Amino acid sequence: MTEFKRDGSHLSSYPPVEKWDDWVEYDPDAWPRRVEKHYQLVPTICFNCESACGLLAYVDKETGQVAKFEGNPKHPASRGRLCAKGPATITQIHDPDRILYPMKRSGPRGGGKWMRTSWDEVLETFGARIRKAFQENRGEEVMYHVGRPGHDFIMERTLQAWGIDGHNSHTNVCSSSARLGYLLWHYADRPSPDHANARFILLLSAHLESGHYFNPHAQRIIEGKMAGAKLAVMDPRLSNTASMADYWMPSYPGTEAAVLLAMAMVILSENRFDATFVKNWTNWEELEVDGFSAKGQSFEALIEALKRHYAKFTPEFAEKESGVKAEVIVKTAREIAAAGSRFASHLWRGSASGNLGGWQPARALMLLHVLTGSVGTPGGHNLNAWNKFVPRPYKNPPPQKRWNELLYPQEWPLCTHEMSPLLPHFLKEGRGRIEAYFTRVFNPVWTYPDGFSWIEMLRDEEKVGLHAALTPTWSETAWFADYVLPMGFSSERHDLMSQESYAGKWIGFRQPVLRVLQEREGKKFDYTYQANPGEVWEEDEFWINLSWAIDPDGSMGIRQWFESPYHPGKKLTVDEYYGWIFENSVPGLPEAAAKEGLKPLEYMRKYGAYEVTTDVYKQNEKPVAPADLSGSKVEANGVVTKDGKAVGVMVDGAAVVGYNTPSRKLELFSKTMADWKWPEFALPEYYRSHIHRSAQAASMAKPGEDFGPDFDKRYMPLVEWPKDSNGEVYTLLPIFRLPHLIHTRSGNSKYLYEIAHKNPLWVNPVDAKELGGINTGDLLKVHTEIGFFVLHAWVTEGLTPGVVACSHHMGRWRLNKEDHVERMSSAWVDLKEVGKGQWKMRQTSGVEPYETSDPDTKRVWWSDAGVHQNLTFPVHPDPITGMHCWHQMVRVERAGAGDRYGDIFVDTNLSFAVYQRWKALTRPAPGPGGLRRPLWIPRVVRPVEAAFYLPTEKG
Ligand code: SF4
Repeated sequence: MTEFKRDGSHLSSYPPVEKWDDWVEYDPDAWPRRVEKHYQLVPTICFNCESACGLLAYVDKETGQVAKFEGNPKHPASRGRLCAKGPATITQIHDPDRILYPMKRSGPRGGGKWMRTSWDEVLETFGARIRKAFQENRGEEVMYHVGRPGHDFIMERTLQAWGIDGHNSHTNVCSSSARLGYLLWHYADRPSPDHANARFILLLSAHLESGHYFNPHAQRIIEGKMAGAKLAVMDPRLSNTASMADYWMPSYPGTEAAVLLAMAMVILSENRFDATFVKNWTNWEELEVDGFSAKGQSFEALIEALKRHYAKFTPEFAEKESGVKAEVIVKTAREIAAAGSRFASHLWRGSASGNLGGWQPARALMLLHVLTGSVGTPGGHNLNAWNKFVPRPYKNPPPQKRWNELLYPQEWPLCTHEMSPLLPHFLKEGRGRIEAYFTRVFNPVWTYPDGFSWIEMLRDEEKVGLHAALTPTWSETAWFADYVLPMGFSSERHDLMSQESYAGKWIGFRQPVLRVLQEREGKKFDYTYQANPGEVWEEDEFWINLSWAIDPDGSMGIRQWFESPYHPGKKLTVDEYYGWIFENSVPGLPEAAAKEGLKPLEYMRKYGAYEVTTDVYKQNEKPVAPADLSGSKVEANGVVTKDGKAVGVMVDGAAVVGYNTPSRKLELFSKTMADWKWPEFALPEYYRSHIHRSAQAASMAKPGEDFGPDFDKRYMPLVEWPKDSNGEVYTLLPIFRLPHLIHTRSGNSKYLYEIAHKNPLWVNPVDAKELGGINTGDLLKVHTEIGFFVLHAWVTEGLTPGVVACSHHMGRWRLNKEDHVERMSSAWVDLKEVGKGQWKMRQTSGVEPYETSDPDTKRVWWSDAGVHQNLTFPVHPDPITGMHCWHQMVRVERAGAGDRYGDIFVDTNLSFAVYQRWKALTRPAPGPGGLRRPLWIPRVVRPVEAAFYLPTEKG
């Protein structure tokens, strides 16, 4: 309730902390009577996207249930504000269809028959299977595959305690390409823009409404704008973000790097760059390009060489490639230069995630930051590692000795993350099998491309021995599991989270609200599922208990990592795990807690978040620590080493820590790319994506037809249209987010699905005419390389011509009509395998009202569940980063008489062939010295250094 100050000075937007134990509001249902309702407010963290905003759970004192969620004003990143998905958590936790108990299949896998089981039986079954695999030296056959992590470090620790290389993630369908572009410059693989203090902000894609860290970033982008910053948005769609921009640059997809390099060329040729910064902080002396070697040359000669190298990136060339007007490119380049060190940007999804070579836009964007000296500055580009804080627990297991080639195969030595979209194809090729598979808040059948290949893998008990889906909601993937294990939403679990949301470091503490409240009142629980609805559990306790089940007597050396730091030999509790971290690993937190007479854990339970520091700028300029300096030496290239390891770099006569790159500087020239068989990409470059306009025409070519110098022939064999595909060729953008939906988890939120439940195909009027006069609502058939889908058209000028677009959020489906499987968001479908690898799906009915304990489910008024386009996409692994390149060429035609809305057909034999064509583009390991991948490039759950080397003939 907004508090009116009697002195009239101001309004208070949030309940003050001192009133959180008894917050009073009038009951809206009792209006116009004034009936008081009393709440206890408990902070937790939103689990509906990666941003980790602070929630306040309003627990009704009368019912003991959570009545609503609002923002936690004490959370430093979200500051009390939320997007629509935060408050909508209330509909997820109270959804009558949610899974409340652990379930075990009672018929054939995928048959949809389930029986309730106990957590003890689950732990015993998985404990025994995993123990046997470990005892038989089959550690690689145990795999944890995460969709939304929502926690920091605990899973990495668990897998290393098990001694296995078993961490798989969704990152290669999400952000791997952007990450490589950034890490080649400065090791950190994500940007942390200081939007609030910027003077010019450049966004590639729709970051204001749906970008990475959207709510925390969006509020700071607006703050920057309100303080006078200009905003430019490069996006083929007229998104809500683009509508807020001073400059909308509707670039043709995949051409963004050409525009960025043209901007760089304007800044270089007009001498608007920060020469001191470039000279001091890049490895320019290592640059070799076009026969020029910077070694022994002057800095001025280097600049001339760069100008020669990038000379072709004229504004006119960039306009021809991208469609962005040359004068806009020049103007924005000059504004970026004028902003200087206060130039901020973000790039995620769209350009990076859609395109072959999608890492180059990140590399080119960073060149603008380097030229303007806006790295590590107020209002500039900061490193995620400087703004994210991951404290360490009481003791950590050593790195694993193994290397799992199902995760990091030799073909993609530079992939930043696991090659997870290819897992079904790897198993089909006989590269391995999985004995115990944990999918965790992960729904690849629906969220990944090529979902039918996932179904084929998951239903095969030879390939996947035992599969548990750890999930808060039903999903298409859970349907093909052996066990469905209900895990908590935001207010039902513990997690520690931090993100690079602004120029500061913070941690947030997710907590099971009902357990915390009841424990405050003196009630005792062994496990969180005893306080949660049904037997909904949390992963932290699940992994601790599973580790004990694998190694009950401690003889395997696993159990020791899950024993109490305070009571040796006793099972670790979640309070002990986090309590120790808060007492020992978070600088300043014990003191802040002591000031209020609290223990650090009590402080975090009370406030839910803590800001660790705002001293985050220019971390590269910190002096090398005296202990590292003593006994160190300076190498010829200025790198300071101690015992063979780099500890810093000499800059302007001072030993400073620099960046974690081989040169300890920002790597304008990537020797790594040159050494690992991609010398043509040692500098930031632009090359044409697989969906470039010339590739569209070439996809329709007759054999041997010449498309001239504009077409990159490397991509010539990439597209082969199925013989029955027809229609005009367009580029499909299939990955834009809607601000209020979030992949699978929003499927059981009535508030969110009421807002949006359709994903029509965006078509520009020019293209609608070309297609024979298409109108909004007409039925279209979209052919991909492996099949087709049928959906409605939406004719709109908010999209570049030649491009069609469809949001990836819709198209949920279920195989049984009555099963309680997200009925408000899914269509009931008939799925048939009509030939080997040939799958047909037809919607039997859309969404319909249904009877539950919640009267709102009878009031469901929408019938559309959207169309599941991802099923018809083949895998497109970028040959360098391994990122799935989502954009694709499609052929669009009017649907025929036999086609119905939602129809899908896919041939997985074709998807396997597409995989082979893309794999042929790779340049596999070994790299220098017999390495699988460069030692300096980070790897999730990093094994021992020896594992980085391929086995020699001698072993
Ligand atoms: S941006 Fe929205 S969904 Fe994401 S954490 Fe914040 S409130 Fe939740």
